[in-house]
Amino acid sequence: CGIIGILGNHEVSPQLVEALKRLEYRGYDSAGIASIDARGELDRRRAVGKLVNLSDRLVHEPLQGLIGIGHTRWATHGAATEVNAHPHLHGPVAVVHNGIIENFRELRAEVIAGGRAPESDTDTEVVALLTAQYMAAGMTPVEAARATIRRLHGAFALAFLFKDEPDLMIAARKGSPLAIGHGTGEMFLGSDAVALAPFTDRITYLEDGDLAVLTRAGVEIEDSEGRRANRDMAVIDVGS
Ligand code: GLU
Repeated sequence: CGIIGILGNHEVSPQLVEALKRLEYRGYDSAGIASIDARGELDRRRAVGKLVNLSDRLVHEPLQGLIGIGHTRWATHGAATEVNAHPHLHGPVAVVHNGIIENFRELRAEVIAGGRAPESDTDTEVVALLTAQYMAAGMTPVEAARATIRRLHGAFALAFLFKDEPDLMIAARKGSPLAIGHGTGEMFLGSDAVALAPFTDRITYLEDGDLAVLTRAGVEIEDSEGRRANRDMAVIDVGS
């Protein structure tokens, strides 16, 4: 039950795994990462059990890219299987999520009626499905993520990646913590500052209802009303 996101300038998969290791203390039953490669394609690797299972898989099936998201899962809906592990991927959207989407059954019925087929038993997958559906209807990634988040009931920390958008990550929180890390020409997000300590000590905590649009140039945050929000940045000492 941890999230990490990196918009970096190095191969991101080892960094994602390193950051996920720092979130192991929260407990988890499976893990996964997704990235966007030089052709703009989204891909992912997932594994049940310890992070070493994921890193072993990455040795045999590497994942390329400078931007990525990662997740350790503590299953609430759906067994601890690879199919249920995050990231969830549909069309041009990849999503990781901590928390519970309480109205997922209703949203799932809606996307199924729209012709999309869920493949997991998780509450999370509807977030990817709905965002993909909104994009197919012509919305931009930011519009689609915003529209999706407004439909969600429950508690969440979320991070989104989009095919062909190697300089864009969207994050949102309600009820679950999420920290933004500021690098130099790089940006990060994570469930806590400890996960980001190898990369930066300059942290902005999102507030409940916030949606953050990250690029390597920085972050723009809007509140639950869609108004531009100014959140303080602080230098956090979490040791190393
Ligand atoms: N409810 C989601 C699931 O079961 C997320 C669990 C978590 O917070 O790790 O996949």
